[in-house]
Amino acid sequence: MIKKIVEFCGLMLLALMLISCGKKEITVETQPRTEKTGNVQMLRTEWSSTETGYYRLYNHTEDGVNLCYVDFTTGQNSFVCNQPACQHAEKSCNSFFKGRSHGILFSNMEHLYFLKYTDLREDPMKLYRMNLDGSDHKLIHTFRKDELFVMDPVYPAFDGQYIYFIITSWDDETMQNIPKLLQINVDTGKTTALLICNQNIGTEEGQQPYIVDPYLIGAHERTLYLTVSYLKETSDLTGIAGADENAQNMLTSLLALDLNTGKIEVQDTWKNADRRFLVQDDQMYYVDLIEKSLKACHIKTGETRVISSNLKVRNTDETILRSIYDGKCIVDIFNPEQQRYFRYAVDLQTGEISALSLEYSEDDETYYVHIKLEMADSFIVIYDQKEEAHHVLHKDGTLEEVIESEPQYARIKKEDYWNNIPNYDPIATLEDAFSA
Ligand SMILES: [Zn+2]
Repeated sequence: MIKKIVEFCGLMLLALMLISCGKKEITVETQPRTEKTGNVQMLRTEWSSTETGYYRLYNHTEDGVNLCYVDFTTGQNSFVCNQPACQHAEKSCNSFFKGRSHGILFSNMEHLYFLKYTDLREDPMKLYRMNLDGSDHKLIHTFRKDELFVMDPVYPAFDGQYIYFIITSWDDETMQNIPKLLQINVDTGKTTALLICNQNIGTEEGQQPYIVDPYLIGAHERTLYLTVSYLKETSDLTGIAGADENAQNMLTSLLALDLNTGKIEVQDTWKNADRRFLVQDDQMYYVDLIEKSLKACHIKTGETRVISSNLKVRNTDETILRSIYDGKCIVDIFNPEQQRYFRYAVDLQTGEISALSLEYSEDDETYYVHIKLEMADSFIVIYDQKEEAHHVLHKDGTLEEVIESEPQYARIKKEDYWNNIPNYDPIATLEDAFSA
């Protein structure tokens, strides 16, 4: 007997998902549209870019993180701080945030936002807002300690007023971690759960496992797209969901949430193993492992077209659609014989496939050059990883030199990247900026 499984603000979705593949509507509570609210867009990296540079994080002290700005017009790296003679190491500094942490930076034209979290989860996640020069930084929202960002690599969506992402939180009643889609007003910090997935993990005897795995996969205009995965049948299963014998019983549904009306539609339902997705603009891209092809499906009309049927995949292969830049989709395909992924770019108009081969090595591992940020005519990439001296500022004002393995950033022309020409324009490290 499956108990409370999926709750859409009080409405049961399960019956809809299991019985129907047709389009049914469910209404959820969304905030009324405001003037600032525009089209919703997925944040694709943890950094935030401007016309002339980008904001990033930097570990300048032993117990905090600083916001820095890399400016291409001046070639300067700087702390996001306009205070004279500042050591950038205390709370009084605009750019400084206490606690060694990571985060996602995003901005509208007015403010820079920082969604901060720590590796060890000792501190709750926090959302900060500041002016673009770092001044007037305010804590907008402190999450509950058990509210954890679902990472790897799922990024939020942002519409200028609200940020949307999936977190899990502990539910005392069911004694489970429950994933939910959260909406946060970035000015007031008010949160609303738009989708709550109650996960039955089969803790009672005789009860079968059941998993609802929500992913925010894309956004277009005022619609968010999510996939949820669940078991087709629960009566004759023995293992945990995701095990081989159960993989064929997994179904995935594509949900479209209209942020203006609050309505959710089940757009499509299919067998889990068949598809890997990416939504960009009005297209949903996926690899059809059976037909060995990359396809695009119009997210409103459902019209599907084959982009390329020459992908070197077998139906057992792992494929990952990384991202789309410049009208090309980056696809990683695992080759079981060689035990490694190969990376390709598929032109979404012509279907032409080309191998991407820019790589770097660290220890004995080889990595593909990784795109961190897309600028107008270039990419910011990690093109190497090197041990280098790094100065950590201690509370007593002393600088300690430590050797750390640091990613090396460079700018590369898009054309060079696509043609595998390692023509890197290295970006000065923030260490250089600080010691200068
Ligand atoms: Zn400062």
